[in-house]
Amino acid sequence: MVPKPKTFTRFRELQAEIVRSGAAIYRDAEGTESLIIDYPYSIRYIHSYAEDSPFFLALANGELKGSKCTDPACGFVFATPRSHCMVCGHTTKWITLPLKGKVHSWTTCHFGSEAFLKETPYNLALVEFDGAGSLLMARLKDCVESEIYIGMPIEARFDASPKFSIADIWFVPSKEGAPKPGASRRTG
Ligand SMILES: [Zn+2]
Repeated sequence: MVPKPKTFTRFRELQAEIVRSGAAIYRDAEGTESLIIDYPYSIRYIHSYAEDSPFFLALANGELKGSKCTDPACGFVFATPRSHCMVCGHTTKWITLPLKGKVHSWTTCHFGSEAFLKETPYNLALVEFDGAGSLLMARLKDCVESEIYIGMPIEARFDASPKFSIADIWFVPSKEGAPKPGASRRTG
């Protein structure tokens, strides 16, 4: 009889066991057990960014591009590449987004794809920018879950060795004038 793989409730210990033996069991807070295996998977994918290309070329140069509807009656601003406006269907043009924004919402990921295993657990934030009507999802680094709050001022950082990937950008808490939760804030 094959022995049952070891059971873990913490990701880092589970990950180490999978690397060591190839399999482990994760038990969640409700007691559900999931068998998790080492599953090497590799594919070379020649990928075209097509109309989104300027977005990734800009990231490599420390610039964040969004898109703005060309219909003056609409003018919706997206914080992501969009060839056409999701509100009215018109074409869009590229705009440059500010490199400072704030946390609209966030989550902490205790499991990650291979690219992010080394930094797991990591935070994913939906970033809100002044003047943009949609949000950008990006990693939020240099802070732990308990320090993050909705409305937290954050700013962009870019990979010094860009890979033309969405992982070329992430955000960190803004150092200057970051208000603490509950502190009085000026509005308007
Ligand atoms: Zn529009």
